[in-house]
Amino acid sequence: MEPITIWWIGERAMAPAVMERVQQELAQAYGVAVRCAEPPGRPSGTWDPKRRQHLTSRMLSWLLQVGPPGGKLLGLTDQDLFIPILTYVFGEAQLGGRVAVASAARLREDLGPGGEGLFMERLVKESVHELGHAYGLLHCQVPRCVMTRAAGVRDVDEKSRHLCPRCRHRLTEPGRSRHAVE
Ligand SMILES: [Zn+2]
Ligand SMILES: [Zn+2]
Repeated sequence: MEPITIWWIGERAMAPAVMERVQQELAQAYGVAVRCAEPPGRPSGTWDPKRRQHLTSRMLSWLLQVGPPGGKLLGLTDQDLFIPILTYVFGEAQLGGRVAVASAARLREDLGPGGEGLFMERLVKESVHELGHAYGLLHCQVPRCVMTRAAGVRDVDEKSRHLCPRCRHRLTEPGRSRHAVE
């Protein structure tokens, strides 16, 4: 399993404690080395003036272009992301590929008494989820598996930050299917 690099590519600063938490949880979820590093700049050419959001496919292209040649790369951002068929997405990844992106933009909705702790938990789940796609995992139907599809923050809150045993097994299975996924 390849190591993971995390870049903060958002506009505003992100608390180091949040980045460290994501780093620790990814290391635990995938059993690989995870490091936070400085990106060479911020993504360009991703803004869609009509939607007033950033197109995730262009974010992924940018990460591929400027990212390190080996390992997995997760870009974390505070910018709102979309794909043409959906109002917004929490993130996107290249299935079985090198790059993934996750957004914090919608993760503060309905935080309630959970506050920043809940926000951090959501970002961890979305990060583990997108990296799962980058390691070749598809969406999962097992309740509470982190690879279940989330259409809103309530879905994110309902799942755990862990891979179910089947997803965990698939991670190490050679020649698993690599169909396209959103
Ligand atoms: Zn997904
Ligand atoms: Zn699963």
